[in-house]
Amino acid sequence: MTKKRNFTIVGGGQSGLQLACGLLDAGHAVHVVQNRTAEEIAVGRVLSSQCMFDAALQNERDLGLNFWDETCPTVDSINFVVPAPDGSGSKAIEWNGKLDGPALSVDQRVKVPRWMAEFERRGGQLTIHDAGIEDLETYARQSDLVIVAAGKGDIAKMFERDAERSPFDKPQRALALTYVTGMTPRPEYSAVNFNLIPGVGEYFNFPAITTTGPCDIMVFEGIPGGPMDCWKEVASPEQHLEKSKWILDTFLPWEGERSRHVALTDDNGRLAGAFAPTVRKPIGHLPSGALVLGLADAVCLNDPITGQGSNNASKAAKCYLDAILAHGERAFDAAFMHATFEAYWSYAQYVVGWTNALLSPPPPHVLNIMGSAQAYPALAHRIANGFNDPRDFFPWFAIPEEADAYLQRLAA
Ligand SMILES: Cc1cc2nc3c(=O)[nH]c(=O)nc-3n(C[C@H](O)[C@H](O)[C@H](O)COP(=O)(O)OP(=O)(O)OC[C@H]3O[C@@H](n4cnc5c(N)ncnc54)[C@H](O)[C@@H]3O)c2cc1C
Repeated sequence: MTKKRNFTIVGGGQSGLQLACGLLDAGHAVHVVQNRTAEEIAVGRVLSSQCMFDAALQNERDLGLNFWDETCPTVDSINFVVPAPDGSGSKAIEWNGKLDGPALSVDQRVKVPRWMAEFERRGGQLTIHDAGIEDLETYARQSDLVIVAAGKGDIAKMFERDAERSPFDKPQRALALTYVTGMTPRPEYSAVNFNLIPGVGEYFNFPAITTTGPCDIMVFEGIPGGPMDCWKEVASPEQHLEKSKWILDTFLPWEGERSRHVALTDDNGRLAGAFAPTVRKPIGHLPSGALVLGLADAVCLNDPITGQGSNNASKAAKCYLDAILAHGERAFDAAFMHATFEAYWSYAQYVVGWTNALLSPPPPHVLNIMGSAQAYPALAHRIANGFNDPRDFFPWFAIPEEADAYLQRLAA
């Protein structure tokens, strides 16, 4: 093994703890600074819907962090629906694509506390502290490399926004999560049940495991100013559940029917908010001149419409781990930081491009693809498995001529 080196990771979420455990396993010293205790996270508000597909789950399996394979209900397919525009309550488009490997959603209120304990069990040093710039200066003096994996935390603003890679400067959706029990299961096998309501937004649900056991997670993505941008007046858990059911009954009666008897998993099984998708420059400059490296959401934050954030976080952590281990005993300088983020970006750019494309009204070639999947099971299968690796959407999903050529090949 090469020399034991010291790492500080600020933020112990999906990416920070996964990377931390990987570095520990390679024999390095790792200090994770987390701003909430395991107990606070476990009893607090839900943070995400965190549906993760096979490739991202594999990174967890490789590190022995897959503690829920036996208990978490699987997500076996993607089911896509567009309601009929005439308001008749029927479906204009519906198709289903089976996933080659199941997806899983483990409530981060379950996962993160368990991983914090595991990190300490493997010999990591955990500090509960809300780190600021002064703290980063201290960590930079103590460590060979400081990584900021603070997600949407304020400290991420130290990384300059990359305007070229960030087409939006405002939130593109009003987001809400509702964790429930009692939803009627989809027949045959489970799915991310994705409903696209033109001009209104998107709604999807899938099975998951939460603090109280199995559940279903409802995700609402309302177009700003539209009828699904409706959470500001919602104060209590009861109102949140009522509003969720109102949306389903109003726009997606088949989903309303499945959710007729649902109850919240717990009073904190709900979330509402909004943020602008933002890519940042990966190197943070401290007043002393020391440098820190941003990881995952801290520097590459996507709207949840494609359910990619935790997947990205897992893949970013894996990419950084490989780069650090390959770097040997050399200094973690600006060139290393730049190259490491660009190696991740060579993957993430496709996720960002695909996700941002779905936030804008779909162009005709995308409507054509999504409608054609009803007739071509091979297309439905390919779109579904694109959630596992969105690079497969390019170029045919992005370029109208490529889409036409691909659909013609399918038809032939
Ligand atoms: C509504 C919603 C739905 C989502 N659904 C999905 C989905 O279905 N699939 C998917 O893949 N992704 C989903 N995501 C995104 C996913 O949850 C995130 O992308 C992922 O958790 C990011 O991982 P991370 O490690 O970058 O940050 P996080 O997991 O957010 O971890 C950051 C950690 O840093 C801590 N922290 C912050 N500031 C500081 C500080 N100053 N000092 C110390 N600690 C600090 C935080 O408390 C937190 O523990 C969703 C997100 C939202 C908001």
